[in-house]
Amino acid sequence: MKVFVIIPAAGLGTRMISAWSGKREKPVATKQFTELDGVPVLVRTLANFAGSPDVSQIYVALRASEIGPFRERLRKDFPEIVAKNPVLVEGGEHRQASVGNALAQVSAASDDVVLVHDAVRPFVTHDMIREVIQAAQRYGAAIAGVPAVDTVKQVERTAEGAVIKATIPRQQVVLAQTPQGFRYEVLKKAFDEATADGFAGTDEASLVERSGHPVMVVMGAASNIKITTPADFDLAEFYLKHS
Ligand code: C5P
Repeated sequence: MKVFVIIPAAGLGTRMISAWSGKREKPVATKQFTELDGVPVLVRTLANFAGSPDVSQIYVALRASEIGPFRERLRKDFPEIVAKNPVLVEGGEHRQASVGNALAQVSAASDDVVLVHDAVRPFVTHDMIREVIQAAQRYGAAIAGVPAVDTVKQVERTAEGAVIKATIPRQQVVLAQTPQGFRYEVLKKAFDEATADGFAGTDEASLVERSGHPVMVVMGAASNIKITTPADFDLAEFYLKHS
């Protein structure tokens, strides 16, 4: 059994720019290329997979204009990642298209495992990667997730703001993280069906759920943050210092 990893990193970081408050320096790079202690977030994420003995091949989806400069940066500063021969592919307009483009290049056997992991979650651990791989192998589909600690409300958006429609019992809620792992045949079928139906999801599990395959949840971690807004960089610096 081989393990393939897809890292979608072709986002524009529009929420990062719109949430910029002026307290921090305006981000000059999109969040996956912003540096944490001299190392781009994407490289930190990549290093966790490149250093995992379970991983056979890594695919990174990037915007076309960023492929050349990123390859050059890796060659110059991060030979340990180049040694793992990551395949840099062109991303798409949405996350799902970016993952789909990479998946189209993966040549896997039906029971090989494909992991998808956000470029902007640099604090994923080897243990978490291994747990998702093992659960994906066993059940066909598994993601990292954390229990909700806040009470969760379903709302309707109005011109005035959000109005609560219902309270969702929090025991029934898990916040989905990545890695998300699937047997190749399970993920491929889910992508083919989503493409045929024009369905767009915000993660890969949602595609697999609608294809009828159960998705297991393994324990993620609070530290496995998705760097989305400028404030998340303060948190990232904290975790970096304490990891
Ligand atoms: O913005 P969002 O939360 O969807 O981003 C999650 C991940 O998907 C990020 O790592 C981002 O770079 C990636 N992405 C992508 N292609 C897009 C949009 C987002 O690879 N077109």
